[in-house]
Amino acid sequence: MFEKSINAYEEAKKVIPGGVDSPVRAFNSVGGTPPFIAKGEGAYLIDIDGNKYLDFVQSWGPLIFGHCDKDIEEAVIKTAKNGLSFGAPTVLETELASEIVEMYDNIDKVRFVSSGTEATMSAIRLARGVTGKSDIIKFEGCYHGHSDSLLVQAGSGMATCGAPSSPGVPADLTKHTLLCEYNNIENLKKCFAESSDIACIIIEPIAGNMGLIPADIEFLEACRKLCDENGTLLIYDEVMSGFRASLTGASGIVRPQADIITFGKVIGAGMPVGAFASNSKIMSQLSPEGKIYQAGTLSGNPVAMAAGLTSLRKLKANPAIYDELTAKSTRLMNGLKEVATKYNIPFQTTVRGSMFGFFFCEKEPKNFKDVNNCDFKRFATFHREMIKRGFYFACSQYELGFISTVITNEDIDACINAANEIMKNL
Ligand code: PMP
Repeated sequence: MFEKSINAYEEAKKVIPGGVDSPVRAFNSVGGTPPFIAKGEGAYLIDIDGNKYLDFVQSWGPLIFGHCDKDIEEAVIKTAKNGLSFGAPTVLETELASEIVEMYDNIDKVRFVSSGTEATMSAIRLARGVTGKSDIIKFEGCYHGHSDSLLVQAGSGMATCGAPSSPGVPADLTKHTLLCEYNNIENLKKCFAESSDIACIIIEPIAGNMGLIPADIEFLEACRKLCDENGTLLIYDEVMSGFRASLTGASGIVRPQADIITFGKVIGAGMPVGAFASNSKIMSQLSPEGKIYQAGTLSGNPVAMAAGLTSLRKLKANPAIYDELTAKSTRLMNGLKEVATKYNIPFQTTVRGSMFGFFFCEKEPKNFKDVNNCDFKRFATFHREMIKRGFYFACSQYELGFISTVITNEDIDACINAANEIMKNL
């Protein structure tokens, strides 16, 4: 059933490292050949062998309206016909920035970039420039892209200097990255006790890179308080949760608010986009208004702006979409949980809006260590069997799933039935 993909993968490996342009796509943690995709159609992906899958990945988040949404497609084509890129200002940038500013009380200005990695890297530069401090706090299991100082994940969970988690990143560049355990207030306090030079905390307020683990509210409150007491800025990385968890992402769900917010793929509706945003006082320190330098030839690309603008306006026009998406995520997670329970399989689920996560483990994971104690082998078998039956889930226990508006309750029930067949023997 995968002959063409198997061949395509072999060919790709000859000219692209590992055959993929982003490692997770290689299916390394679940095994097997990744299906090579020919096209998307609404809720479905179709691979080059003609297999059709119900898509719970949605390009890792951006496609809230599914593949080939007519309005977004039209906006993209119309804009592309006027030219793909100018390296000069366009009104579309102002329009998309204004939509975002209007939604958030704590955002006055937005700077667009081309990826989530750029957004977080630039946000940290901004935080360091504004505070005049050097250290940053990041949490184990949170992913903020692959820039040097953020490529620090593995660690003891102690308040200690982070070691680079990739060759090619000099320890000198990560010595300012302090690694803490997610949802661990004591650990965070210890970090502040050890350094008086902390420019920012960067956190996924709803972590989506160790499965789906929302931060406890008390933990976010502690982050906010410690930042305020120490002249440190709080950055919410909402590259994944922005416009997904709610219309205003995690910020719309939790009370403590960030000083800087980063956005990514979701505001581009499938086009390469990222952004970082804050109040005027902070953003005015950015070049060319201020001295903190940041730039990008393709930043604010008009076609990407048109896609994002159309998607955001559709969401804003019908915020009830989020209730529908939450109901569908909940239906799927409750359904899978019920099946797992029937077969005595330890299974945990989380839902935040259109984002869902499930883990093969006894108790709800709260941090990276808990996730690492889950049954990865069981996850891999489940994933492989679901793919065979036409259900495309993220290919790692460290990832999460997404619901789009075009996924129906019937689709979800079909998925639960397929899971029943698999879990019987899992
Ligand atoms: N931050 C978060 C929370 C992410 O999930 C990701 C990517 N999944 C990034 C940053 C990096 O974004 P990109 O892959 O677009 O560089």
